[in-house]
Amino acid sequence: MPYKDKEKQRQYHKKYNKEHIDETRERSRKYYKKHKEKILQNHKQWNEQNYKQFYQKHRQQIIQCSKQYYENNKERALQRRRQYYQSNQKNILQYHKKYRENHKKISSQYNKQYRQTEQGKEIIRQNRDKRRKLGSVALNKKFPNSHFHHINNKEGVYIPEAIHKLCFTGKSNRKTHRRKVLQYYGSLEKMIANARQLTLVYD
Ligand SMILES: [Zn+2]
Repeated sequence: MPYKDKEKQRQYHKKYNKEHIDETRERSRKYYKKHKEKILQNHKQWNEQNYKQFYQKHRQQIIQCSKQYYENNKERALQRRRQYYQSNQKNILQYHKKYRENHKKISSQYNKQYRQTEQGKEIIRQNRDKRRKLGSVALNKKFPNSHFHHINNKEGVYIPEAIHKLCFTGKSNRKTHRRKVLQYYGSLEKMIANARQLTLVYD
């Protein structure tokens, strides 16, 4: 039915669309799908030309409007989110699991790297000594490629790793190991003096 009055025609369409909302939605969905490229292009063009001006002019209304929209659709949005979570629960859980695993991998990689540094090795050694009920009082400072050798159950000196390794017997026995190191240096005094000398060299 043709209207002469434009406003009446508009009202008619509005009412019609409201009454046939599913049909209308489907129609606009189809239309959008078919003309997507063009619509987006038009929007982009319009935005580039007018949006800033439009926004400045209607700022208050736009803010009010989006606030209103949020208020009106809060329940629906929540519902939608809940539904999304429910139907994608498996994927979401999978995603979080993967995230945790990846991070574990990274942190274990980092730990591995740290354990290979001088500082890392030192911490590991100290923890091991604690378990063995050995003290960590050092009579000299650590230098590169040195090992901490206990001269008794409380104190020790940093000596070259190579010498320390040389003095390990097949079956690790604390007593024979200490005797061997002592034999290598000749005396405890010489061992400590030599170790302190090496610390100075590298300091
Ligand atoms: Zn030792």
